[in-house]
Amino acid sequence: MTAEKKFNLKVDHEICQGTGYCARVAPDLFVIAGPMEAKVLIAEPTEDFESQILEAATLCPTRAITY
Ligand code: SF4
Repeated sequence: MTAEKKFNLKVDHEICQGTGYCARVAPDLFVIAGPMEAKVLIAEPTEDFESQILEAATLCPTRAITY
């Protein structure tokens, strides 16, 4: 059995501007917690979330999302 790949999902709060794109394309993974702050809901998502992670990271205008 192959272990599921897990990500280490983070938002850099120094550069996040709270635009909300991440929460819109990946609502299971991100929530907007304040005016300039996206919060990660699942810190170590499985590979099932890969497409959502990549879409959110690509759309983020400040490149604040790492995984
Ligand atoms: S898309 Fe990027 S800048 Fe916008 S809220 Fe999400 S992490 Fe922050």
